[in-house]
Amino acid sequence: MEILPPLKGKSVQSIFDIIDPLMEFKPAFIDVTYHREEYVYKQREGGYLERVSIRKRPGTVGICSAIMNKYKTDAVPHIICGGFSQEETENALIDLNFLGIDNVLLLRGDPIKTDNVIKNENNSFQYANDLVKQVVNMNKGIYLDEELKDVTPTNFCIGVAGYPEKHFEAPNLTSDLKFLKQKIDSGAEYIVTQMFFDNQKYFEFVKKCKENNIHVPIIPGLKPLTTKKQASLLPKTFSIDIPETLLDEIEKCKNDTQVKEIGIQWAIQQSKELIKFGAPCMHYYTMGSAELTRQIAAAIF
Ligand code: FAD
Repeated sequence: MEILPPLKGKSVQSIFDIIDPLMEFKPAFIDVTYHREEYVYKQREGGYLERVSIRKRPGTVGICSAIMNKYKTDAVPHIICGGFSQEETENALIDLNFLGIDNVLLLRGDPIKTDNVIKNENNSFQYANDLVKQVVNMNKGIYLDEELKDVTPTNFCIGVAGYPEKHFEAPNLTSDLKFLKQKIDSGAEYIVTQMFFDNQKYFEFVKKCKENNIHVPIIPGLKPLTTKKQASLLPKTFSIDIPETLLDEIEKCKNDTQVKEIGIQWAIQQSKELIKFGAPCMHYYTMGSAELTRQIAAAIF
């Protein structure tokens, strides 16, 4: 399952409250997302606007350590390129290594809301593949400072993202798969997919990956629909389709309680079919709520 760090100022207990009811299902791993800075404009005395950088959900590394300590379950921090220099990333990876966290999901990250593109400012990487190469180098004992002597190699297991319905910036799926293959050739060991609601998309993606000589485990990412609004929001945000049958069911709902029920049932059916197909395991996007994932897991495991 994947969780979000709490909003700045909130207690780590809010994370434990999400995880506690899910532990009976013995999750194989718990991913913790990473959120880069955003810029907001604050009104100052005299009518001036000040551009301030804020990070709304800090604490990914600390939460991973707290999870490993409390639940003795592997925590998987997400590490992103955007907003971090290569040195900052190396130092964060050293922290993780010292904490005994040796699984990472490496991502590019999205541009901050005020920008349209990822800027490779501040000596940061532009694509996740570069991040994969950096971590693979550290696993070989190669750090950014080539003059370091007698270094201890790290031992990170590396995951990357894949998009059954293609990444929204990719001109086509073939091009997206070419760059996914690059990440695997660089040393990524498994793929976690973007959420999808039509299993056929996953089945075709797995087939195309094999045709492109990608033979690592491909973990399907699932999220139940919870509100009517999401039926239009998720396609826009993640460039994914909502199948007609699901949309028809959602449109018949009188309120979001009914939508949630449909969403849970749909995710249960998806999970059952994916398990039958031989998916290595499931990756549930909890989106800050344990209850939905708990109901799905209770029906499956
Ligand atoms: P990349 O693999 O770098 O690909 C990005 C785009 O560039 C693709 O269109 C690809 O085809 C293209 N491309 C790749 N290499 C090249 C090249 N050499 N030349 C030209 N084009 C290229 N975001 C967060 O900020 N925090 C998170 O915690 C987070 N968790 C996520 C978890 C999962 C499972 C998934 C699926 C996504 C997550 N994201 C997260 C979102 C992710 O950061 C965005 O989808 C981002 O836009 C792409 O990330 P990526 O790692 O797939 O990028």
